[in-house]
Amino acid sequence: MKCPNCATECELVNVKSKLSYECGCGFSCPTNHKYINEIYTFISKDSDGNEKILNYTTTMLNRRPMVTADRSTLEELKVIAREIPTTKGVNIRLLKFTTRTEITDWERN
Ligand SMILES: [Zn+2]
Repeated sequence: MKCPNCATECELVNVKSKLSYECGCGFSCPTNHKYINEIYTFISKDSDGNEKILNYTTTMLNRRPMVTADRSTLEELKVIAREIPTTKGVNIRLLKFTTRTEITDWERN
C-alpha cells in the first residue's frame, strides 16, 4: 500500500508473525487492520454537466449514497449500478479517490 503521509510505497514487515505496512516517515498499519486509503463512488452527470453522487435503496428501504471504501461492497454496488442506465435513463460513471487528507480529529472527553 501507499503511505498516506508521503505517498511512497510502504514496506511489508514481519515482526513475530505479525505483518504490517511500515514507512520511513513513521507510518505503520497492521495488515489485518482496516485502513481507508481509497473511496469509490458512482456518479451521474446531468445535461448541464453537473455531477451528482447516485443513491440506492437498501433492503430496509433506506436511501444511501453509492459510496464505499470497501471492495466487497463495491462489487455489490456494481451490480446495482449496471441497472441504472436502463432503469433511470442516465449514464453513470465509477470514480476512485485515492488522496487522503486528515482534516480534524474529534476525540472523546
Ligand atoms: Zn510515509
